[in-house]
Amino acid sequence: MPMNFDAIIIGTGFGGTIATTKLAAKGKKVMMLERGTFWVTPEKLGQPPAGAKKPIPVWAKEQNPPMPVQYWPRPNHREGLLDFFASIRGPLNNDGLYQYSMFKQADILTASGVGGGSLIYSNVTLRPQAEVLLGIGLNLGDAEYQTAYKWMEDFRGKLNRVVTKIPLPGRDVSNLTDDDYLYLDRARALRDAAKISSQKLGIQMPWEPLDLSLVEYDPDRGAASDAAKNHTFCERQGRCILGCLPAARHTLNKTLYGKLLSDPTKGVSLSPLSEVRDIKQIAGGYEVRYRDHRDGNTKTLSAPMVFLAGGTLGTTEILLRSRDRGGLKLTAKLGTHFSTNGDFGAFCVGTTKPVYTTRGPINTSGVHAKFDGLHIHVEDAGIPEMLAAVTSTTIGVLDNFAQREALKAKMKFAFLSMALPDLRAFLPSLPDTYDPTSFQTEAEMMANIFFFNAMGQDDASGKFTLDNDNLKLDWDKKIGETPIFGKIETLLQSLSESMGGRYVPFPFWKGLGNKKLTVTHPLGGCPIAPTSFDGVVDELGRVFDGNKPAGSTDVYPGLYVVDGSAIPGALAINPTLTIAAQALKSINAALP
Ligand SMILES: Cc1cc2nc3c(=O)[nH]c(=O)nc-3n(C[C@H](O)[C@H](O)[C@H](O)COP(=O)(O)OP(=O)(O)OC[C@H]3O[C@@H](n4cnc5c(N)ncnc54)[C@H](O)[C@@H]3O)c2cc1C
Ligand code: SF4
Repeated sequence: MPMNFDAIIIGTGFGGTIATTKLAAKGKKVMMLERGTFWVTPEKLGQPPAGAKKPIPVWAKEQNPPMPVQYWPRPNHREGLLDFFASIRGPLNNDGLYQYSMFKQADILTASGVGGGSLIYSNVTLRPQAEVLLGIGLNLGDAEYQTAYKWMEDFRGKLNRVVTKIPLPGRDVSNLTDDDYLYLDRARALRDAAKISSQKLGIQMPWEPLDLSLVEYDPDRGAASDAAKNHTFCERQGRCILGCLPAARHTLNKTLYGKLLSDPTKGVSLSPLSEVRDIKQIAGGYEVRYRDHRDGNTKTLSAPMVFLAGGTLGTTEILLRSRDRGGLKLTAKLGTHFSTNGDFGAFCVGTTKPVYTTRGPINTSGVHAKFDGLHIHVEDAGIPEMLAAVTSTTIGVLDNFAQREALKAKMKFAFLSMALPDLRAFLPSLPDTYDPTSFQTEAEMMANIFFFNAMGQDDASGKFTLDNDNLKLDWDKKIGETPIFGKIETLLQSLSESMGGRYVPFPFWKGLGNKKLTVTHPLGGCPIAPTSFDGVVDELGRVFDGNKPAGSTDVYPGLYVVDGSAIPGALAINPTLTIAAQALKSINAALP
């Protein structure tokens, strides 16, 4: 039976883009199916043509058919919130950028669009601790990570450490002893707090600027010629997760267009707004069924090779549907080993020194600790100006509430003990952290609120199933009460004290929810394992053949998983470099 393409790639995030670059280099005819659309900055496009509401990029017009385009949410202050909410994907908004998936014990945020998670991520590109990889049985070492770093730099651009208020070309920014004041305030606050807390807790907590996939100003115009010409340097606007207006981030839509789609001889096609439903095995390959949101029709394409790269939720859902409804026999482990990556957000309110949380890239520096036997990574995090009013108000209310509760408890104790005659000593006026009537700029609202972005080793015990064709996520216990989250809270409470402020957890954890997690680095669902008894794919990402008895190593020919769903447990660090390393290992083995 003739096939439409040599390979079909489902999803255009990290795994999907990596697979496509490798297949194109081997001269294969590739189709990428992506449920979302193209997202660009409106800033570099000039004025819209007469009669048009928005400027259309030349490259989008040149594609046949022309590519649908959306623009990063803006303006960059509270009025941009409307644009932000309009960018959330839903049944009536198929081209939304943010996919917010709500489950009983955790909410998960992922991206939808050409470029996948790179569109809304905060650019952090890090390698996990070897001990963490060993613990989850992921066999990636120096060679695989070097290959991943090389791909990142060859296909996206140089990694940079953006941890200072202004660029300091050619200087090592990990230890600016004489120019300490040049650090972004929140990076310095994390470094100083980690020093104090590591002594108090008796643990090592080294601080380091993060490697970020974005363009830092570089006077070497030869090396950064495009950036120099187009002025696409990081301007510390602090809105990476909303899209970068100066276009300084190395997002994968740029890789896909610049390296593949703009050159028809590369043999790569991309169909946006095409949401894959399921996969069926046919003679000589696979048939992929998808809904084309541009015309509302359901369509099919076929190829001898299919690479699933729809992300942890996307790929697991497609395979569950293909198994439960489409007859593709897969192992009983499908849907298991979901890991939250120990993702945990919290705030420190009322820092002694200002931290100016709206300024700089979203994450700039991090500290790593091994605490009671578990690895934990904590980064400073930014809040974009657009979200400053809503964040500072919510956190202010929760902080005020927590202080009143603490005061009440103190009063009860005082009353019961009758130890002190004058209760007024226990009624100090509350610090004025929440005053909706006073006018503040967005930068002032967040000046003394530090935002922690923490990750750690959870036990990867979540399980996805399909319920009425919808993805469902369950645990057979209270995941919020598992040890890692208690340890993270202890660490963050200590760091908050060391900053001179008060610890306030993320609202859904306490205040607006009860230990509900908010996950931005979901992993697992199609775990790697040595045999089909324990997992869904082998260490090369090949899907185990469920027709064979459990424990077999037989795989479906030409069917691969190359995204975060294959990672069998927490990495306790930002995952994209590892997803890239694993995807490259799979694709290099598939295309020797
Ligand atoms: C706010 C935020 C900040 C983050 N910051 C960082 C960071 O700094 N560093 C880091 O390492 N990680 C970060 N992450 C996590 C990172 O984005 C993900 O781990 C990564 O993108 C996962 O890569 P992937 O290849 O598995 O899938 P993705 O990049 O998620 O790509 C999956 C693609 O498949 C598409 N898709 C899904 N289902 C279908 C379907 N049925 N049909 C067609 N297409 C489909 C999606 O639209 C998407 O484009 C962040 C995440 C968030 C939400
Ligand atoms: S901080 Fe601003 S300018 Fe820099 S990469 Fe992020 S969004 Fe772009």
